[in-house]
Formats: sequence, structure tokens, C-alpha cells
Amino acid sequence: MMKRIAICAGSFDPPTDGHINIIQRSLGIFDKVIVAVAVNMSKQPIFSPEDRAAMLKGIFQGNEHVEVDVFEGLLMDYARKRGVFTLLRGIRTMGDYEYESQMALANKTLEPKLETIYMFTEGKYAHLSSSIIKEIIAFGGEGKGMIHPIVERKLKEKLRT
Ligand code: ADP
Repeated sequence: MMKRIAICAGSFDPPTDGHINIIQRSLGIFDKVIVAVAVNMSKQPIFSPEDRAAMLKGIFQGNEHVEVDVFEGLLMDYARKRGVFTLLRGIRTMGDYEYESQMALANKTLEPKLETIYMFTEGKYAHLSSSIIKEIIAFGGEGKGMIHPIVERKLKEKLRT
């Protein structure tokens, strides 16, 4: 049987429970999800791609339906390399919608085989973003209900020492 595989690409700087929720829910639809950490970001990441991938691997350890990888360059080229043309993304807000519709159209122009599948976030994650969690931890807050303990430990190390 042909496997249904999707690529969930992003910066994951760091991964939040919002990301994890989208990936876990998508496994009801896909047989496998490749979580692809983007290297070259216009955003200035605080974690190296290797650190971000290591956190994701820790979070999904033992789950054979999730593969964590790092990619550089255009997502289209990575999709071609992997032979996977289904992209998975999460949507939180109207802002996400606008950005995502641009991205989806750009990707489709570059590679017509690419299809992007969107999942709406669950309510409690609607305001959760990698940038917000970085501020919370930097100013002494706790990450419970927002980030995995592995991520909380790494963030505290990075932002409080
Ligand atoms: P990028 O820099 O490519 O936007 P992100 O790591 O910020 O990468 O996000 C990757 C994907 O995860 C995006 O589709 C984003 O909308 C989604 N996402 C981020 N946070 C959440 C959340 N709290 N709930 C649902 N989806 C989310």
C-alpha cells in the first residue's frame, strides 16, 4: 500500500506544544510526517538547526511515524529530494492565513505538484508562538502547557545563563 506522507517544515525555534499538537493530530490522516527544520531563515534563530532537531527528536522519541530532518534552501527542492509533495502547516490567526496563502501560492508556482494541507490550531494554542514562549521564559515565566519539558530545559539554559 502506498504510504501517505507529509512534510511539516518550519523554523521550530523552539518547537512548542502548538507544533506538537498539529503533528500529532495529522498522524490521524498521514502514515508518516517528516518534520523538517529549516536552516536558512530570515528570522534570526536562537537555536542551531541541530539543537532544534534534537529537541524534536526527543519529543517524538519512540514514535516511528515521525521523522525529524534538517533542510537547507528551498522547501520545493527538499520536497523533490524526498519525493514527498504534501506539505502540512498549522493556522492560528488571520495573520497566519495571509502569510500561508502567499507561501502556498509561491510553492505551487515553483512546483505544481506541491499541495499544502492546513490544520487549524486547537483553541488553547491559538496565541502560542515560538517568539512568545521565548519572552515568557526569558522574563522568568514557566512553560507548562506551552512547551515540552525538554524544550523548557533548553530554553532556560539558553536564555537565563
Ligand atoms: P515558520 O518560520 O516556517 O513559520 P514556525 O516554526 O514558526 O515556522 O511554524 C511552523 C508551522 O507551525 C506553521 O505552519 C505555523 O503556522 C505552525 N504553528 C506554529 N505555532 C502553532 C500553534 N501554536 N498552533 C498551530 N500551529 C502552529
